[in-house]
Amino acid sequence: MDKFKIKNITIVGGGTAGWISAALLVKVLGKTHNIKLIESQAIGTIGVGEATIPPIIHLNNALGIDEKTFLAATKGTMKLGIEFENWSTENSKYMHAFGGLGKNLPFCDFHHVFLRAKEQGSEYEFGDFSLNYQAAKQHKFDKLPHITGTNLPGIVYAYHFDASLYAKLLSEYSQARGVERIEGKVVDVIQNQQSGEVEQLVLESGQSIDGDLFIDCSGLRGLLIEQTLNTGYEDWRHWLPCDSAVALPCESPSPIAPYTRSVAKEAGWCWHIPLQHRMGNGMVYSSKFMTDEQALKTLSDSLPGKPLAEPNFIKFRTGRRLKQWNKNVVAIGLSSGFLEPLESTSIHLIQMGVIRLLKCFPHHGIKACEVDEYNRQSKMEIENIRDFIILHYKATQRQDSAFWQQCQRMDIPETLARKIALFKESGKVFREQDDVFTEIAWQQVLLGQEILPQDIHPMASTLTDEQLADLMDNLNTLIQRSVESMPQHEAFLNI
Ligand SMILES: Cc1cc2nc3c(=O)[nH]c(=O)nc-3n(C[C@H](O)[C@H](O)[C@H](O)COP(=O)(O)OP(=O)(O)OC[C@H]3O[C@@H](n4cnc5c(N)ncnc54)[C@H](O)[C@@H]3O)c2cc1C
Repeated sequence: MDKFKIKNITIVGGGTAGWISAALLVKVLGKTHNIKLIESQAIGTIGVGEATIPPIIHLNNALGIDEKTFLAATKGTMKLGIEFENWSTENSKYMHAFGGLGKNLPFCDFHHVFLRAKEQGSEYEFGDFSLNYQAAKQHKFDKLPHITGTNLPGIVYAYHFDASLYAKLLSEYSQARGVERIEGKVVDVIQNQQSGEVEQLVLESGQSIDGDLFIDCSGLRGLLIEQTLNTGYEDWRHWLPCDSAVALPCESPSPIAPYTRSVAKEAGWCWHIPLQHRMGNGMVYSSKFMTDEQALKTLSDSLPGKPLAEPNFIKFRTGRRLKQWNKNVVAIGLSSGFLEPLESTSIHLIQMGVIRLLKCFPHHGIKACEVDEYNRQSKMEIENIRDFIILHYKATQRQDSAFWQQCQRMDIPETLARKIALFKESGKVFREQDDVFTEIAWQQVLLGQEILPQDIHPMASTLTDEQLADLMDNLNTLIQRSVESMPQHEAFLNI
């Protein structure tokens, strides 16, 4: 008897989701399983998705892809955080920088100390205590494990890259390790009459492809998970007001910044993502408040260089598939749900989806308890990110357009309402289990959006005024010294 009941894995889709899935599966399962990937050049991929968050480094490490090879192949750059412009008020600016910020007291987070110093008249901004933000502002980058001369955390980073080049790199990687790539369009899906499980995919050419386990990476259409299994979708558009995007790359301005810019506009926001060979730009907007023409004009007016392509318009429905795993189909990537790209989390969700599948891998047949656990964890993970993104919209003070006024009035999930209320009253914020965003990330957005707590932790008041001022000055000086010693981002990239 065969050792494994689930031996044949068939992936539908060759976008970022399809090729990340193929690469991780073949790396971990090796030759014990037959892995096939079907993609259709005629259909193509969504063609966006360029910014990431730090756990992407674990993905490349797990695959054994070294950083130099990766950056050269994908025209990648380093990312220290996202600068949010005009989100709180029309002329405001803050950064959600990765990594540490300040120095905590015992059982008391640093932002309480910062707020106390503010009460005493300090002119420092919260970001003055983030090594990442200070390096980003000066377009510098280095892999510093610690702030020089201290044991405080150093630089934490992610990447910007050309996602289609990343998919190409992973396609070569996967095929070299045994993944079979099949070009063709799936036109029919054959299900088992009793169980409803997917048994075969029929291509336009007439070829049939079978499988024991199917990974649906077919993008927003959800070819297997929705069009075949009718799994259902939880719509989050009442909380995430944007439903459209237009992307338009342009020539890269110099110097190349090591951070993403997110600039709020009248009815949405524009992204600017610096790559080695171009700048990725786009506008995410609400079709209720802005036409496609207005969005394109807003984006074109804010391009930092000459456009390099035709605009790519995309419509989407934010939300999540009710089950990411249904019968013998696991949805990974856009087929599993979509949160808008404000915090660059989609590729991370792909990575986590495949890792979770590998942890729950159904070697001896699909068991309901494993499927339920997979779906429970996936739901928790995406809801945490959803709340973090909604916070940016809800906590705006902007009154200049009907869009932003509606954002302030809208209902929000109870989980987020509780978090905001706790922070407002007490200044406290706690990280949920499995939330990819740390307390420091939440603090930066809460304070950046000008939610000011009514209370601060008593521990922050145990410092004398002099001790407090010294602490702030010393921390800031240490950070500035560390930044001074760093090379420019372009010098680090050697381009
Ligand atoms: C405006 C916007 C900006 C984004 N920015 C970011 C970002 O900065 N960072 C980030 O992490 N994510 C971002 N994302 C999300 C990111 O683009 C996706 O998560 C990522 O590209 C994965 O897409 P995918 O592989 O699931 O789908 P797709 O790229 O759409 O790929 C689907 C694949 O399925 C194939 N396919 C479909 N139907 C069939 C069929 N019948 N037969 C055969 N093959 C078929 C297609 O040919 C294609 O290969 C963004 C998304 C949008 C909409």
